[in-house]
Amino acid sequence: MLSTSKRLKGFTESVIRGMTRLSNKYGAINLSQGFPDFDPPRQLLDALKECVYKGPHQYAVTWGAPRFRKALAKKQSRFMGIPIDPDENIVVTCGSTEAMMVAMMTTCNPGDKVIIFSPFYENYGADTILSGAVPVYVELRPPDFSFDPDELRRAFKQRPKAIVLCNPSNPSGKVFSRKELGLIAKLAKEFDTFVITDEVYEHIVFKPYVHTYIASLPGMFERTISCSSLSKTYSITGWRLGYIIASGRIINEARKVHDFLTVGAPAPLQEAAVTALGLPNSYYLQLQKDYTRKRDVFLSYLGKAGLHYTTPQGAYYVMVDISGMGHGDDVKFCEWMVKEIGVAAVPGSSFFKKSVKDMIRFHFAKKEETLRSAGERLLGLK
Ligand code: GLN
Repeated sequence: MLSTSKRLKGFTESVIRGMTRLSNKYGAINLSQGFPDFDPPRQLLDALKECVYKGPHQYAVTWGAPRFRKALAKKQSRFMGIPIDPDENIVVTCGSTEAMMVAMMTTCNPGDKVIIFSPFYENYGADTILSGAVPVYVELRPPDFSFDPDELRRAFKQRPKAIVLCNPSNPSGKVFSRKELGLIAKLAKEFDTFVITDEVYEHIVFKPYVHTYIASLPGMFERTISCSSLSKTYSITGWRLGYIIASGRIINEARKVHDFLTVGAPAPLQEAAVTALGLPNSYYLQLQKDYTRKRDVFLSYLGKAGLHYTTPQGAYYVMVDISGMGHGDDVKFCEWMVKEIGVAAVPGSSFFKKSVKDMIRFHFAKKEETLRSAGERLLGLK
């Protein structure tokens, strides 16, 4: 029989997206795959409505519609604190998912090593393998998800081509401190390594934690490929609008990969999203407030259900310890919970390099009423 690519043997289908299908099948409350059940900002919907008749409906410039790039450069320069040229420093992609894949293919040769912190969002392993590179894992140790600087240095000694930095971090909710970022930056310079970021939760950070863009640290812009998207910030995960921000030298190469992968992100959606990129600071403050409230509401139920967790500092996930639940296996536990409790979570084992079977991940990007209903059901775990 004709065999398919050997590369694909290195990973499975997404466990996260599989859990959504299972949740739908049993009509559970889906706290597995992270996406909102509430509407995007009203202004954005109005702008989309306008685009239906006004267009554009044909391809945008492959690396991003000029108006979109201009608005994005303005917004990101403000938040990242670095000058970003819309014509030189941006590629607009189909979600951050494509951005990360482009970043990997732009930087790596077959056989190159890439450092990934574990637990990690499952795409990074697959992206690495698909681009022909080899992952080197460095542990983020629960419950606080700190890393051992010596272990990180040992990983850098293997001369990796790149390190992936998800900050704020999925699934752990960790926000890397300035000190930690400083250390990563120092090692990246010493060993001449690219830093590929996933910063899709850049605006979901809980006080007193603060998100720092590693690209903004001295001397880091030249070696950082900052990937992010509009999905989480404006609650539009289905629009598939992401981007890469990097130096002109890197962007010139990344454009080629992007062009041949997807040609471009949806033109009418880029046009409509210009409105979102122009929202005032108050929008981001409100977003932070809303997510803090969601987090606190959901965590209060976890506490009442007698579950142990690490309080997230950012992003919208929480890792929960199920070792006391007597199930012994996170995958079986999640399947059982969907059917018997009516709430879907993601088995923690899909995020860790080493075998971890006593953790699961919930997300809380849901309306407060959804979180309360899920919370009430989770009390049944007691
Ligand atoms: N980032 C989301 C999660 O971890 C899912 C994104 C996706 O499925 N593309 O749940």
